[in-house]
Amino acid sequence: MLLERWGRCSPVSMRPGRARSAAGVSGRSESTNSHLLSLLTATLSNMWSNAVRTGAAQASEAADAVTAELTAMLARFTALATTDSTEPAADGVRIDRIAVLEQIKAAAAAAQHAEMVGFARAQVETHLAQTGAGGLDPAAVGRGIADQIALACRVSPYHGSRRLGVARALDVDLPATAELLAAGRISEHVAELVVSETRHLDNEQRRLVDKQLAEAGLEELSPRGAAALARKHAYEADPAGYLARGRTARADRRVSLRPAPDTMSTLSGLLPVEQGVACFAALRARTDTIVATGDARTRDQIMADTLVERLTGQATATDVNVEVGIVVPLDSLLDPDHGGTAEIVGHGPVPVGIAHDVLTSTAGRRWWRRLFTAPEGGPLIGADPRRRRFDGVLAHLITIRDGGRCRDPFCDAPIRHLDHIRPYRSGGPTSYTNGRGVCARGNHVREMPGWHVEVVADGLGRQPHTVRTTTPTGHTYLSTAGPAP
Ligand SMILES: [Zn+2]
Repeated sequence: MLLERWGRCSPVSMRPGRARSAAGVSGRSESTNSHLLSLLTATLSNMWSNAVRTGAAQASEAADAVTAELTAMLARFTALATTDSTEPAADGVRIDRIAVLEQIKAAAAAAQHAEMVGFARAQVETHLAQTGAGGLDPAAVGRGIADQIALACRVSPYHGSRRLGVARALDVDLPATAELLAAGRISEHVAELVVSETRHLDNEQRRLVDKQLAEAGLEELSPRGAAALARKHAYEADPAGYLARGRTARADRRVSLRPAPDTMSTLSGLLPVEQGVACFAALRARTDTIVATGDARTRDQIMADTLVERLTGQATATDVNVEVGIVVPLDSLLDPDHGGTAEIVGHGPVPVGIAHDVLTSTAGRRWWRRLFTAPEGGPLIGADPRRRRFDGVLAHLITIRDGGRCRDPFCDAPIRHLDHIRPYRSGGPTSYTNGRGVCARGNHVREMPGWHVEVVADGLGRQPHTVRTTTPTGHTYLSTAGPAP
């Protein structure tokens, strides 16, 4: 049960480098402010978190002979991995084993590619049949295929698409590279580099480059050397396309944020080279000026603070002016010495002491909101089945509960929509239990034939909110809102 309280944090005069000690944390250094600023920047810039996601696949059909064989091989590898490494074996023998295991990793990737391509072809056939029968919009043919692969691989839909793209390219246009991979003579990484470096070529050109690479001894090259050779041949095969690709790449410019250990985060920008260089030069120039004034901070700290100040328009980096959602265990309020973990929405779990620091040491005038995880039996929040859309406090609570991230297992994309788990058109209520945060893609995939999403735990008691997704092959995956109280 989430019980919401509001508070207004009174502005306090704090400057960087003079962090105030707060209850529950000792031995804080000056750098703590930069920890907090990154943490807060993380929260305001994006809505991801480390919230626990669990997913479990269950095969809908009995395992076939190949699956049984693969499962036995898996058990064998597991046994090898847990064998006491002090068991005597000559050093030369160990190197031989290491080499063969490396080949097996590559060959396993190739075998997985073959399964992906076969699965995708069969699914497209099914979709086309459904289109012919009038049951599917032709524009939706192909949708949800990579998503099923992603669930099986326990990766995000984005990476599912990427993997399927690599598998298709190797299968259709790069047979020699695919053959080397299947034989374990090049790594999956090198194969992916060849796919990536040749992606602007048409089928015929790609096959030509593939042949050239194999003849040039691709397997003898380092990953860097392999990529450089692939790039060279790809350029020679289609110089105009290569230049056009450089221009297309500029359309992919973006900013992303990833969690880092110790309540830090990494904010990165994929930028056209001259702009990236200009940004870095501007930060360095400003840093030089500040260092010359005798500032006590290190160059790295000044550059990081300057980055935040320039991006946010704040006078100082720590004055983060933003609403921060913090979920704090109720026990920790009743007992200040209670340990435990709080949750910064959009970032993930942090020690309760750090959460208190965020609330007390930031100088910005900002609204903050505390949410307490309370024992079960509290008041029911936000259930208004007549309303069509999730909004207001209800929307906020669902977003907090889902950690700001898509609830599809392994997805991790920021929430773009609040979705009715049981569709509104089927009588699904607009309630805390029946709502979930999803990315734009997840919202479309669930509409494909054979997909089914349902609530299996309402999240109002001790058990966290849990959603089960069933895919067209009958596999099921669980998504649990986390972390659990
Ligand atoms: Zn998603």
